[in-house]
Amino acid sequence: MRTVYVNGEYLPEHEATVSIFDRGFLMADGVYEVTSVLDGKLIDFDGHAVRLSRSLNELEMRNPISKDDLLEVHRELVRRNEIDEGLVYLQVTRGSDGDRDFAFPAEETEPTIVLFTQNKPGLADSPAARKGAKVISIEDIRWGRRDIKTVQLLYPSMGKMMAKKAGCDDAWMVEDGMVTEGTSNNAYIVKGGKIITRHLGNEILHGITRAAVLRFAREAQMAVEERSFTIAEAQEADEAFTTSASAFVMPVVEIDGVALGDGTPGPVATRLREIYLDEMRKAAQ
Ligand code: PMP
Repeated sequence: MRTVYVNGEYLPEHEATVSIFDRGFLMADGVYEVTSVLDGKLIDFDGHAVRLSRSLNELEMRNPISKDDLLEVHRELVRRNEIDEGLVYLQVTRGSDGDRDFAFPAEETEPTIVLFTQNKPGLADSPAARKGAKVISIEDIRWGRRDIKTVQLLYPSMGKMMAKKAGCDDAWMVEDGMVTEGTSNNAYIVKGGKIITRHLGNEILHGITRAAVLRFAREAQMAVEERSFTIAEAQEADEAFTTSASAFVMPVVEIDGVALGDGTPGPVATRLREIYLDEMRKAAQ
């Protein structure tokens, strides 16, 4: 049975509770982070801690925990749950003042903080990454502040189900004819050796994995262009891939039924996955 962390306490999962008036539950008034664990160590903890602070700031929500304490809680959960490969999920909500109201509760209301681990053996050496993912495109009808990592995940979750129903693995979302991102990842294409991914803005989440992968790509003298692209351009690309903290670099081999290249993971995605895993394992804490 898992040990989880709720508001300062380590508890068995079935003893951990949150109020029914919690704004995370009633209004999706909360933010989250997912940090992966390899060899029992945290991958890019600093990046996730910085983005958490930013998300909280953007929503005028109090940060209930210092960065040092947050690192300690992550490590303690990994230790207690004996996670070698897996994830640490963290959620902070605006808490509860014991009722429901659209207006934010009084400023002194304590935020709710919850962390739990997920055991995922084989996260790095993943059969899915060896095969590559098939994606469909769907209209992006999410709200306009996708740069804030909120727990409003209903539409991305529906997108994932639409993909599954179509016999695919994931969906890429399209707004004004341009790809924004995947349901839970950033999207990339590769053409003539150049890596193309949407520029940062309010339209996409600023992926922690995206930042690291683009840095490694530039260090390896690969050309990178940050601009938006269409599904048609993606279907004509040499290869495609996505990045996320929980799946690292994931090759994409098919978009809306059109196979890319020979329909197997491309060399750029494969190499970036290797570099990312090598470098991040070295820097893990
Ligand atoms: N975009 C969206 C919509 C996501 O949900 C995620 C993963 N949470 C990402 C991009 C990738 O971000 P990261 O690399 O920080 O996991």
